[in-house]
Amino acid sequence: MTRVSFEFFPPREEKSLATLVDNVAGHLGQNKPEYFSVTYGAGGSTRDGTFETVSKLIGAGFDATPHLSIGADSDETICDLVKRYKDIGVKRIVTLRGDVPSGAGAPRITSNAESLVTLLRKNFDDAFELLVAAYPEVHPDAANANDDLDFFERKVKAGADAAITQYFYNPYAYLDFLERCRARGIDIPVYVGIMPITNFDSIVRFSAKAGADIPRWMLKKLEAMQHDDRAIRDFGIEVCSRLCEDLIQQGVPGFHFYTLNRWGATQRILDNLGL
Ligand code: FAD
Repeated sequence: MTRVSFEFFPPREEKSLATLVDNVAGHLGQNKPEYFSVTYGAGGSTRDGTFETVSKLIGAGFDATPHLSIGADSDETICDLVKRYKDIGVKRIVTLRGDVPSGAGAPRITSNAESLVTLLRKNFDDAFELLVAAYPEVHPDAANANDDLDFFERKVKAGADAAITQYFYNPYAYLDFLERCRARGIDIPVYVGIMPITNFDSIVRFSAKAGADIPRWMLKKLEAMQHDDRAIRDFGIEVCSRLCEDLIQQGVPGFHFYTLNRWGATQRILDNLGL
């Protein structure tokens, strides 16, 4: 069975949080997701907001999973937060290095997701399922694809149970990544991150930053419809639905939707797939 999960970011205002939990999670929850995950702002900037969103989702009866990154926090601060998550019933954590907050100067790699996985395993044993990020199209910080896979393998050996990919629109990037993982004996489930396209400027800007490729044929079509958000959304739904169909045929274990706190486009993709 293909499982699904949905990603949210923590809203800034109380009212938006209530809408997210009651309306967006309410709608998407009907698809019986594995969980809703909640992102963690670069450098720990949403520590409280992520916690509050996770606890509100749990309070409403949903399974919620926080993202956690190292930022500038000490091991003690991180472990205190994780203990609070354990106390409210969290069973799983998306474990990341995280991005450097904008304005903080050039990116430095002072620590990585591998060290966070190690820290959590050391202090919490098997209390949580630990998910890590995977980059079928290669992380922008990596010198090459092989080095990138070395670092991915280190996260898995440190104790990651499963991975979620950065989004991509070319299924072969994922299939090639999986093949290279399997050749090294890495056999954890790798769930596919799906980014519905709803706005031209945002998808172009975000993809450039994340190192996600928008294939030329797609970019040309998107450019031609860039001032028509409805056309962009329909095209994005069609592309993502076909991508998911291809991957289901290839036996993908599941999809993780980057919902951007909206349910419409994600729901239409799921309806197309009959999931
Ligand atoms: P790592 O796996 O530690 O490293 C990323 C890359 O850096 C590696 O692929 C490797 O090429 C290189 N690298 C790793 N270790 C070393 C080393 N020791 N020396 C040299 N190079 C090294 N960001 C947020 O801020 N908040 C979120 O909630 C969030 N959620 C995400 C969820 C998913 C599913 C994904 C795919 C990404 C998410 N991100 C989030 C973005 C993520 O934080 C960035 O991609 C970040 O730049 C890398 O984080 P990571 O955990 O993959 O890092």
